[in-house]
Amino acid sequence: MKILVVNAGSSSLKYQLFDMDTNAVLAKGLCERIGIDGRYKYTAAGKDEIKGDYTMKTHADAIKLLTMNLTDKDHGVISSMSEIDAVGHRVLTAGDIYSDSVYVTDEVKQVIKDCIPIGPLHNPANLMGIEACAEVIKGVPQVAVFDTGFHGTMPKKAFMYAIPYRYYEEYKVRKYGFHGTSHRYVSGKALEMLGNPDAKVITCHLGNGSSIAAVKGGKCVDTTMGLTPLEGLPMGTRSGNLDPAVLSFIAEHEGKSTTEIVNMLNKESGVLGISGVSSDFRDVETAADEGNERAQLALDMFVYSVKKFIGSYAAAMGGVDAIVFTAGIGENNCKMREDILDGLEFLGIDLDKEKNLKTRTQADVSKPESKTKVLVIPTNEELVIAMDTMEIVKNLK
Ligand code: ADP
Repeated sequence: MKILVVNAGSSSLKYQLFDMDTNAVLAKGLCERIGIDGRYKYTAAGKDEIKGDYTMKTHADAIKLLTMNLTDKDHGVISSMSEIDAVGHRVLTAGDIYSDSVYVTDEVKQVIKDCIPIGPLHNPANLMGIEACAEVIKGVPQVAVFDTGFHGTMPKKAFMYAIPYRYYEEYKVRKYGFHGTSHRYVSGKALEMLGNPDAKVITCHLGNGSSIAAVKGGKCVDTTMGLTPLEGLPMGTRSGNLDPAVLSFIAEHEGKSTTEIVNMLNKESGVLGISGVSSDFRDVETAADEGNERAQLALDMFVYSVKKFIGSYAAAMGGVDAIVFTAGIGENNCKMREDILDGLEFLGIDLDKEKNLKTRTQADVSKPESKTKVLVIPTNEELVIAMDTMEIVKNLK
């Protein structure tokens, strides 16, 4: 079975084609600047990357280009699009209507549309991706996999905000959480590595956007991101948690609207805002090494925040069997893993520092006697989407 995984953004569209017999990626690509001019990258497995310009007025044009690349006589990997059994879409959220992945129907599309207020940037783009596939790859079954889905098992005491209850009833204001496919994938792998399906695991997805989840026996019980991805840890450009009164304080001082301030909190804050250097942790680390104090402060704030959430989630679950690190920083920034865990020995963590500093692939980097394991697990959100899509499509037949 061949499954195409699509992640449509407002002006971009990423894709991977999977052969589900082997879980291998046959080809992948990125279409950018849709609606502006149009640029693309495409790589067939084992071959060199192809880059170019191609006018893409709409997402349907991007799907047409993807079709041309995948079926090209020189660098294509299939002879016709009819070889594709289904398309799996990364969709930001279906609110609290769907947690599990679903076969896309008109009703599902309506729910995605109804949830635009919760995902104003992503849900419209995700819908455009679905419509574009329906238009260009006619008749192919489509599945939606929700980024909030895995967090659907959080208890009410974890997902409610302590504001007047009517805001939940009228507008569904609550914590939803994001990066769900990543937390689901790495927590599942962690349970396999631990050989314990009931284990209590804290998964740290640390990338440009970062979030942490508390996962008990494979079910998410809490997570750091909220109604939007702004809540929780300080990130590349997002502030993470702060006193909500900061908004009105700045609004009054600078005569700004709440929309402008929330924009600032999403795009100009976090590690970028504190350091004034960059949103990329590598640049910030270089600056800190050269003596830039604000760059060092930004890194210290990030590490401190991750540490505090690990402690609070261990308390929430009544213990922890493993801490999992994933995504750009979690997988590659070995020293930062060490800094985060420094001082958490009281949780039973005994890190093998030497092994940790060399590890960028899947491995247990704690000492054999460590009561709480430390696992590095590269995430694979696309594979989760492909596997869910395959399961749903198989059951249709
Ligand atoms: P996104 O959330 O956009 O998917 P990533 O998961 O790719 O982001 O994470 C991006 C972050 O990961 C950047 O801050 C970058 O510094 C860090 N990162 C990525 N690769 C490496 C690496 N090889 N070494 C150290 N840090 C890395």
